[in-house]
Amino acid sequence: MSEEDVVTYEVEDQVARITLNRPEYRNAQNSQMTYALDAAFQRATDDAAVKVIVLAGNGKHFCAGHDIGTPGRDVDRSFDRKAVLWWDHVDKEGGDQRFARESEVYLGMCRRWREVPKPVIAKVHGACIAGGLMLAWACDFIVASDDAFFSDPVVRMGIPGVEYFAHPWVMNPRAAKEFLFTGDRFDAQRALSLGMVNQVVPVEDLEDTVTAIAGRIAQMPRFGLALTKKAVNQAEDAQGMRTGMDSVFGLHHFAHAHNAETADDSLGGLDAKAMARGNREQE
Ligand code: ZN
Repeated sequence: MSEEDVVTYEVEDQVARITLNRPEYRNAQNSQMTYALDAAFQRATDDAAVKVIVLAGNGKHFCAGHDIGTPGRDVDRSFDRKAVLWWDHVDKEGGDQRFARESEVYLGMCRRWREVPKPVIAKVHGACIAGGLMLAWACDFIVASDDAFFSDPVVRMGIPGVEYFAHPWVMNPRAAKEFLFTGDRFDAQRALSLGMVNQVVPVEDLEDTVTAIAGRIAQMPRFGLALTKKAVNQAEDAQGMRTGMDSVFGLHHFAHAHNAETADDSLGGLDAKAMARGNREQE
């Protein structure tokens, strides 16, 4: 599969549509996908014909998380780094390698996309799990279909949530604890009641609803939208989101290191199949 294929890009009526395109793997994100996403966001940022961006997933699900086991898993591959000023992870070992890689492709990329100076709407259907949450949360709006569900089950790996630790800000601290402690799925209605998503609509109405919202936003002036987005993001950062995330990133990496010391690997020996089995057994 070529670099372009894992993410598709189209523009129509001032709206860029960026679509995750690994439907056979429930759009699991490998680094190839994060860099293709980054290129698509850069393209939409630079394109004067684009006012609004829609991020969606092809197939039955929005995104099942980071790639922890498909044939396209590419953790040992180098890419031209964009998100942070740090060295390449590939020839490093242990925590040095993990910190470099995750700073770049997970936390750094998500922050970079959150700061795209155009409104971004996540169009979420089906699964939005772990690394998938990070993509949706980095967007300005989330419009979900009624079949959408959200979960972060990585506590099962002994890890305190995914790298972009927005949990207490996108819901509230008490709900975030329930979400993490149980690993349970929050359905679209629960996500709506917590303020994590903007709207929930029947799955057959999702496309039209997102198109209508994008169309309304596209009538606003480009620069006004950019300043407004920055204003709200700055307020969120002043509420501690950025520093909170940085401190949790340390705990996250401590957990990876503990796993690497005491179990088979930094994920506590749990691959995608073992995670799915664990989640099922708990139900
Ligand atoms: Zn990690």
